Amino acid sequence: MQLSKPVLQAENLRKVYAGRPAVDGISFFVSSGEIVGLVGPNGAGKTTTISMILGVLAPDAGSIHIGGLDLAHNRAAALSRTNFAAVYAPLPGNLTVQENLRVFGMLYATPNLSARIDEAIAEFDLERFRRTRCGVLSSGEQTRVSLAKAMLNEPALLLLDEPTASLDPSTARDIRARIRAFAAKGRGGVLWTSHNMPEVESMCDRLLFLSQGRILLEGDPKSLAARNGHASLEDLFVAVANA
Ligand code: ATP
Repeated sequence: MQLSKPVLQAENLRKVYAGRPAVDGISFFVSSGEIVGLVGPNGAGKTTTISMILGVLAPDAGSIHIGGLDLAHNRAAALSRTNFAAVYAPLPGNLTVQENLRVFGMLYATPNLSARIDEAIAEFDLERFRRTRCGVLSSGEQTRVSLAKAMLNEPALLLLDEPTASLDPSTARDIRARIRAFAAKGRGGVLWTSHNMPEVESMCDRLLFLSQGRILLEGDPKSLAARNGHASLEDLFVAVANA
């Protein structure tokens, strides 16, 4: 069920590599205030999907609308409404926390940038690292900076590719709370990939189960396993991965 106006609408998205579809005609949406989990085995097509939504990969077919804007025809305006964080996309290590936030804030044309940087630094508890180069921060600290950068322009669509991978349980809990708070404001939606099934179950309002480039299952993560005859999401995941 679609609750409010979608911030992301993907229709029949497809990407083929060397004759083999990595993403095979998928359609889905993310609404404002919603956290949607994109899960699936290694190679299922999650990162390919996110790369197409980010505009770094051109789909072979299908369409993507962000905040109602067609990414193919209104690229700059559509992308200015998104932001992104992933462990495999660290911020430049030779820039300080403040410099990184300023550079990315300018790239996203963030209004009242100095004030937004101060707010983000306070929100993510980064004051003592403000003038520290990002390259020397720990993984957990770098993730906090990446999320501060990802929320700086108050995106309508926040894309998070395994944001808690490699974090200790306490830092991961802290990061989850901040992402939940972002969604709870109701101004943006989140598309989240993770291999951590308990995390997905506790965080996501809705789950898209991707396998071999297709959405096999979709629904409430709290009931999806039982509805498909499995005791837990992890059991369901293993069954889908081995199908
Ligand atoms: P993981 O959980 O391992 O990160 P994923 O679900 O993100 O996996 P993708 O990275 O989207 O999966 O890859 C989907 C499929 O597309 C894989 O079979 C992968 O080998 C293939 N693929 C991805 N990028 C390319 C590329 N540039 N050239 C050829 N094949 C690619």
